[in-house]
Parts: sequence; C-alpha cells; structure tokens
Amino acid sequence: MGVLRESLAVEAAQQPQWSTRERLDAVVDELRRRPPLVDAESCHALAAELEFVARGESFVVQVGECAELFADSSRARIQAKAAQVHGLCEIVEAVGLPTVRIGRFAGQYGKPRSSDTETLPDGTALPVYRGDAVNDLAPTASARRADPLRLLAAYDHAASGLNALFMRQLLLPGNSGLSAMLAPTYISHEALLLDFERALVRPDPVRGGEYASSAHMVWIGERTRQLDHAHLAFAAAIGNPVGVKIGPTARPEDVVAIVDRLAAGRRPGRLCLIVRMGVDAIADRLPHLVTALGESARDVVWLSDPMHGNTVRTNAGRKTRVVSDVLREVERFCAVLRRHGCHPGGVHLEATPDPVSECLATRADLASGAEPDRFESACDPRLNGEQAEQVVRHVAELLCD
Ligand code: PEP
Ligand code: MN
Repeated sequence: MGVLRESLAVEAAQQPQWSTRERLDAVVDELRRRPPLVDAESCHALAAELEFVARGESFVVQVGECAELFADSSRARIQAKAAQVHGLCEIVEAVGLPTVRIGRFAGQYGKPRSSDTETLPDGTALPVYRGDAVNDLAPTASARRADPLRLLAAYDHAASGLNALFMRQLLLPGNSGLSAMLAPTYISHEALLLDFERALVRPDPVRGGEYASSAHMVWIGERTRQLDHAHLAFAAAIGNPVGVKIGPTARPEDVVAIVDRLAAGRRPGRLCLIVRMGVDAIADRLPHLVTALGESARDVVWLSDPMHGNTVRTNAGRKTRVVSDVLREVERFCAVLRRHGCHPGGVHLEATPDPVSECLATRADLASGAEPDRFESACDPRLNGEQAEQVVRHVAELLCD
C-alpha cells in the first residue's frame, strides 16, 4: 500500500464535503468488505489490448455519459449503450482496424465542477450537483447534500450495470459465447471520488501489486491531474490501464512528468493521454507535448476527446457543442500525431443512443441563435446516435488516408 498510502497524505481537489464523517467511515469500511466489481484478469486483458493500440494495430472507442444517473444502470439502458459502442466499433472495423470497446458507464457517477454552487433563476444559491455518487440532481438544498450512503448505491448500480453488460455479451444475437468473449466491452469512469476508489483497491493475486476493482480502466480528469496531488498518486499505485485528460493549458514538462510517473517501466499502452484541447488550440499546443515526450510518445495511447475543449454557450446560456468543431478537432489530432510518427489511438466521446439534441450541427447554427431543443443530459451536452456515428465515420475515413 506504499504509494496508495502516500496518496492519502497529499491534497485532493474536487472532493465532496460529506454530510457526516461517521457515516463516511462506515461506508468506506463496508466498501472494503465488498467483492471487487471487476477482477484483475479482465483489467490485464484490457491492458493487453491497449498494447496493440499503442502499436497502431487497434483503435479505442470509449463512449458514454458525461454524468451517468443511477437509473441508467437498468439492463435496458446499459444494453442500449453497449449496442451503441458496438455499432460505432463496427464503423471502424469496416475499414480494417480492430477495436477496443470501452464504455463510459457502469460507474461514471462522480463529476468535477468548476463552481461549488449553482444559482437558480430565482436567485437561490445551491451546492452544485456532483454526480449521483455524491448528491441528487433535483434543485433543492436537501437533494444536494453530499451523502456518503450514495457511495454504496454507486457500488450497487455499477454492479447491476456490469451484470447487464455480461448478460448482453452472452446473449448477443448471432454471436456465440466465444465471439462475444473475443470482443468484450470494458467499463471505465473518472477516478474522482477517492474515498470510493481507495476502498475498492484490491490485491492482484496473479501479478502482485494492487489494482482498482471499480472499473477496468479509470482516468484522472483535467481538474485533478496536479503532479503533487492525490489523484495522480492513486493512478500511480494501481496496475490497471489509466488515462489522464490533457487540456490546452497542460505544460510540456507536466505531461513529461505524468508520463514518467504513470508509464515509465510499464508495458506500452498502460497510459492513455486523453487530449481535450479544443479545435482552436490543438494544432498549436499538441505538437509541443509530443515533441517534449520524445520516444515515450510512442508508448502511450493517444485518445482524442473532441468534446470538452469545445463547450460553448448558446444565446440563452445553455451549454452546447458544435459537431463541426468536434470533427475538425479529431482531424487536427490525427494530423499532428501522424506528423510526429505517433498513432491516433482512439476517440473518447460523450454520447447517448437517445435522440436528444444537445449538440448543434454547425457554428452557423450557433450564430443564428439555435437552441438545443431536447436537452436531457445531467451535465455536459452529448452527441446523439447519429452525431456519434458521423464523428466515428469521419475518424474511420481519416484512418484510411
Ligand atoms: C468529463 O470527462 O466529463 C470531464 C469533466 O472532462 P475533463 O476532466 O476533461 O474536463
Ligand atoms: Mn463531461
């Protein structure tokens, strides 16, 4: 527990102010006694797949909710989301590249926020929603209390989601058990809530060391990747594949330090750098990072998150994203990496199979005052099924070039 213990001693950003310490301690004790959600073997199976991605022989499709609700762990919801990931992978596979399927679900229940409070139209200030593992989306003071019991509910809902995923893999029409096993859907979420994540760390009985049993892969967000903070120490302590979000202000020396800390001496593909710089910054910023990394740039998996750097507001003040910006960011991502002899390793998208309209098609739509007319996301605007396909088809074409 060396590095893990070390992660306890340092500052952690974006942690909830839990309503009671006693209840938190009891919840953490309970989580420590629970069985692992995923086993070490399946985390290693993903690590092996990601090694192919680092070599340019396979492509990651990581897709799901910005903020998953507990209600999203129902069998129907999880299976619809897994089917969406599957369909997107088929688009890539049609151009001859195998894929790695990773859901951003069955555990995406914690959200970092840029402000601690939210002001309602009537002027009341409320604690902000931090994901279903922390508080409730309903805009009332009692719903927004950070209740540690929700961490137990997060475990239960992730377990239900995983079970639904497993059932789908067994029952896929036209798929024998064997071919379903050959194309598993892995699960991932942001490792934000350290009380939860640390309580689910388990020994790896085969390879030694420890792993996060909350998901096959976890990532550290843009707001919590400080070098001297607890989240990176946590990521360094576990054996799973891990990701780190890299935004437009990431300094080359910081990214070099992150790669040293999380990837040096490990198998290629252990670390995914999830680039989310925005269409206007990426062509300028990304080359400096790749150059600074030198040879180690070829041992990481480069994923494009073309959503989070492109969040804009409509005239009415609603958060949205413009699909044409998303397409341009992915293009620039691929172009920069290829120019530097690296492989574009995959996409990380916020999307839903539901026919929502949360993202606008073009900048002209935004300029003309268009408003998303069906916005259901609990947090950031997601691509709908058609938009997600449009993005992945574009990527698949780029991969053919
Ligand atoms: C997210 O993935 O929902 C998120 C908050 O992203 P980032 O850490 O890149 O801002
Ligand atoms: Mn988001």
